Amino acid sequence: MKKISVGILGATGVVGQQYIKRLIDHPWFDITYLAASVQSAGKSYGQAVEGRWRLPEALPENIKNCYVHSINQVREASKLCTILFSAIDTQTAKIWEPQFAEAGLIVISNASAYRNDDAVPIIIPEINADHLKLVQRQKELKGWKGGLLVKPNCTVQSYLLPLHAIHQKAPIKRAIVTTMQAVSGAGYPGVASLDCLDNIVPYIAGEEDKCASEPLKIWGTLNADSIEPAKYPIFSVHCNRVPITDGHTSCVSFEFLDEKLDQDEIIELWKTFEGPPQSLQLPSAPKKPLIYRIENDRPQPRLDRDSENGMAVTMGRLRPCPVFDWRFVTLSHNTARGAAGGGVLNAELFIRSSQEEFQEATMNLALSR
Ligand code: NAP
Repeated sequence: MKKISVGILGATGVVGQQYIKRLIDHPWFDITYLAASVQSAGKSYGQAVEGRWRLPEALPENIKNCYVHSINQVREASKLCTILFSAIDTQTAKIWEPQFAEAGLIVISNASAYRNDDAVPIIIPEINADHLKLVQRQKELKGWKGGLLVKPNCTVQSYLLPLHAIHQKAPIKRAIVTTMQAVSGAGYPGVASLDCLDNIVPYIAGEEDKCASEPLKIWGTLNADSIEPAKYPIFSVHCNRVPITDGHTSCVSFEFLDEKLDQDEIIELWKTFEGPPQSLQLPSAPKKPLIYRIENDRPQPRLDRDSENGMAVTMGRLRPCPVFDWRFVTLSHNTARGAAGGGVLNAELFIRSSQEEFQEATMNLALSR
């Protein structure tokens, strides 16, 4: 297969660096375009990230000399690549992402700028790959030659994937989610060390609303031109910033709508959970998207965030809840599955969405939500 040319907006940031790591030896994709702010534009990538390359792996040799473009070089980008991963802040994304989509690129965004747009799907491939059809409609709805699809907030998949495995068998009525989110979730340099060390910050701007509403759009029904959000479950979310480098943990209590499942049934659903990424053999798909740990003291960010190359969600401590039905702890890597890894998985899914196997793999998704 001839490799597909891809670009990264915000290539120098925390998420951008994860994209470099995940794309540099990708079997389908080839990095041909990088862009960042005026601070980095015009430099080589090696110069632009000097002193702020924050991954344990060495900066790949073959990216060091790549030119970093300014974000306004839209025409240049449309000549150099087909898919564009966006890892820029929301305000910048609001202005620029539609311009790249209009110029014919398929933009896959990590920013929240268009998550509430009726014509833009929020995709978690295991849950709503069928919502990708909306991207084809954007030509008419938005006048774009290309398209835009987005990833949810970096915390959402940590609790939505395990809840989804349950919800498709026995619907959930409501859930309380308390998050403990890593400092890397705020980008680099992010939260000041004096604010985060020896501390918990019980507020992350805008995060609780996103964590409550995005799941309902992901679980929603695809209409001709938009997605009708699901009515259930009702989420109450508390978001906290904690002094952890990477990995967002959530404590979840939930109540069933009607039928109740027992502990063994829930654990079995988690163990056997699969989705289109597995059956379509997408290169970034974890073999096991959900991992249940039986030890009482798991999951832990340091021990579990890198499971399946940072693409799995790890759960533990499923036990009865005296207020709702069940409670558990869940964890996923915010810059891997929660950002660049999730973005690359979405791109792989998009590539396969034009193929016949995709229809077969996603046929029952809408029915199961
Ligand atoms: P970051 O470390 O602050 O990186 C921001 C990137 O955007 C840098 O490459 C920066 O370039 C570039 N940039 C800033 N202003 C720009 C402008 N005006 N024009 C063009 N490029 C500009 O942030 P991040 O954590 O990687 O987050 C990026 C996006 O992903 C945000 O929307 C964030 O909410 C979302 N996200 C983050 C995470 C996470 O865990 N960190 C997870 C999911 C989603 P310079 O280096 O040149 O300044």
